[in-house]
Amino acid sequence: MDPRLLDDLIDWLRIPSVSTGGGDPAAIEQAAAWVVARIQAAGGTGELVRIGAGNPLAVGRLAARDPRAPTVLIYGHYDVQGPGPAELWTSPPFDPEIRDGRLYARGAADDKGNFLPLFHVACAMAAAGELPVNVRVLVEGEEETNGDAVGAWVRDDTESADAAIVFDSGMPDPQTPVITVGLRGIVMLTLDVRTAERNLHSGMYGGSTLNALHVMNHLLAQVLPGPDGRLREELRAGILPPSPAEVESWKRLIPGAQAIADAGGRPVHKGAGAEYYERNGADAALDVNELIGGEPRTVVPAHAHATVSMRLAPGQDSEEMLAVLTGLLRAGVPDGAELELSSHRAPPALFDPSQPALQLAAEALRRACGREPAFLRTGGSIPIVAELAGKGFPVIVGGFGLPADAIHAADESYELHSLEWGEAASRELYLALAQLPARAAR
Ligand SMILES: [Zn+2]
Repeated sequence: MDPRLLDDLIDWLRIPSVSTGGGDPAAIEQAAAWVVARIQAAGGTGELVRIGAGNPLAVGRLAARDPRAPTVLIYGHYDVQGPGPAELWTSPPFDPEIRDGRLYARGAADDKGNFLPLFHVACAMAAAGELPVNVRVLVEGEEETNGDAVGAWVRDDTESADAAIVFDSGMPDPQTPVITVGLRGIVMLTLDVRTAERNLHSGMYGGSTLNALHVMNHLLAQVLPGPDGRLREELRAGILPPSPAEVESWKRLIPGAQAIADAGGRPVHKGAGAEYYERNGADAALDVNELIGGEPRTVVPAHAHATVSMRLAPGQDSEEMLAVLTGLLRAGVPDGAELELSSHRAPPALFDPSQPALQLAAEALRRACGREPAFLRTGGSIPIVAELAGKGFPVIVGGFGLPADAIHAADESYELHSLEWGEAASRELYLALAQLPARAAR
């Protein structure tokens, strides 16, 4: 590994660019400017772009040695989650430390450590006059807060690209590099049920008045999965089945039951573990994330609150699914109760592994890692991927994150081996994508 890659990462990780919970505006600014300074030092052009009141985007361009080469847009995010309670960290979150082959810091994996090799290699190749593709750099600062600045930038962008690379994803095990070809979308709902002006005495009113927790229970029952973990058919409309190439490549991954056990989870029923990759990537799911109401006394609660997230499988329409979901919930509200709903949503994305950019990417990963990559659908959602796909770019979603990285949690870390694979893969990706026909306007 280029020692400057590790030095650069440690330097970037020292900037506490937290965007959640109000964030740290000075550090946000500093982490974005850090990116622009590196583009300029490599001989490229870069600037901070501000859209509305959002955190700045670091946007730039590094020129290929041959200007007629194809153009590749690379995406990452410089913002990080808040560190949470300091006492849960073995070493301070913004004082990076290497222990047992892992670099520990907030952002070590999500997304500074995952993204930086892609950026670092482009800068190094540009500085050496060896960059085989034109690289457009897009690094945002609102990924952890669902900000839309980057979405607005992508929608308004009039320059094109021949492919995009997003390193904000990972692998189920350290042996198998992955190209993520499907990402689930999301519909996020908060529900507030009100059934009375105030909590009532259960002796005086129990049995004759509406109970907000009972109503909430009834509403959630309309949309919860059955005992097999599958949702009702209305909520699975539009799902596209995985291609044979995807299903075949899952055999190279650790068994699904083990992936669940490694995370400390338990399968929803016997046999669900074997279907992990299909369930997690190619089916819809709904989870109650939070349920609040009542008090530990003899009351008839007047108010109940819930947060529900539904993951949409590739093929599903987020607007349509939001309508179906809210329709089922509203139909269950009894006379006299009020349901208040708020929502946000992001569409799913799916890429055909047989398209040229993905085939070139698979060959690049094979050369870089010495292993056959798997085409995987991930259960997570990266809204920018759907935005980029909407522009017609083939998007190569990759990265070398691992389940043990503890992203968003205390003691977040990234394997030095993942950094090495990231560096090798980035170089091979740029070389491989130079073979794409260049269509992008420059
Ligand atoms: Zn994150």
